[in-house]
Amino acid sequence: MDNNIITVTSPLLPDLKEFEKYLEDIWNRKWITNNGYYHQQLEKALAEYLKVPYISLFTNGTLPLITALQALRITGEVITTPYSFVATTHSLWWNGIKPVFVDIEPETGNIDPAKIEAAITPKTTAIMPVHVYGKPCKTQEIQDIADKYGLKVIYDAAHAFGVEVDGKSILNEGDISTLSFHATKVFNTVEGGAMVMHDEKTKKRIDYLKNFGFAGETEVIAPGINSKMDEIRAAYGIINLKQVDAAIESRRQTAIKYRNALRNVDGITFFDDMPGVKHNYSYFPIFVDAEKYGMTRDELYFKMKERNVLGRRYFYPLISDFSTYRNLPSATKGNLPNAHKMADSVICLPMYAGLRDEDVERVVELIEK
Ligand SMILES: *Cc1c(COP(=O)(O)O)cnc(C)c1O
Repeated sequence: MDNNIITVTSPLLPDLKEFEKYLEDIWNRKWITNNGYYHQQLEKALAEYLKVPYISLFTNGTLPLITALQALRITGEVITTPYSFVATTHSLWWNGIKPVFVDIEPETGNIDPAKIEAAITPKTTAIMPVHVYGKPCKTQEIQDIADKYGLKVIYDAAHAFGVEVDGKSILNEGDISTLSFHATKVFNTVEGGAMVMHDEKTKKRIDYLKNFGFAGETEVIAPGINSKMDEIRAAYGIINLKQVDAAIESRRQTAIKYRNALRNVDGITFFDDMPGVKHNYSYFPIFVDAEKYGMTRDELYFKMKERNVLGRRYFYPLISDFSTYRNLPSATKGNLPNAHKMADSVICLPMYAGLRDEDVERVVELIEK
């Protein structure tokens, strides 16, 4: 019996021979970081691919969140979601901002706009939603609230690479969006990330901030940070960008297979595609209804693990349950019922470009029984 380990994800790797050619060129140029040739090339290629006017590359997906809050001078309280990767809330903490958790919608896992207004206080300065699993937030409703109360909107779009609604990039919503190019994401540069902004002025300021605040040889305009992407990762990204469409198509095929196989399994639900949305199939979460399925989420999760199928319980525990945040007034279970329900029922199934048919079948058979 085939019993190899099936991991939840596997990185999209550039062709090694092609990468070597780029490395040789970098060696010849002897310019390995600080807005080099490939850094500029990748920014250009990504802006085009993602249909965004301006983008700034970062060394990971957490620093653009932290830097966006700095750039927009966000203080006081920020409304955010507990159903995400910890980096979302950590970015607030690193800026001395108090996170205010608002519950999610069960249909998408995203922050529920209908519950945002009740969480606004005189100290609120911004909203930080997440397009969780790459599913678009209700951006218009969120923007309407932000406009009404004079708030900024920063999207953690770490999962939303290439996601479009009615042909338009989701990354153009809000004041700023951030991306992660971590090894586990749809598009990766090993470690890496980016910030998307709407105007040249902001792009310039962000480029200063990610380089210690330097605006010239002798001028520092703010207490910036160092979060520049180097030439080696930029070159890696240029090669990977050429194969990302094929990777997303491969992921889509896997999603179709999972959906066809699991649609009639009692007690297992999942998300279908949303109308008008170009998805990136970054994750394939399923939700276990213990009563109907006859087994709890954790029972299924550990059974899968025993058989070498490594799903992940993204996002369990909720961010609001980690020690740093659990004493916040908004972190109570009563305030976040939908988030708790989702966190307690979710398993993300193996999902990556090139996942073999027989592996998909093995995952499905485990869940069917
Ligand atoms: C991956 C991720 C990040 C952080 O990205 P890094 O590149 O790992 O720093 C932030 N937010 C979300 C929602 C993520 O999934």
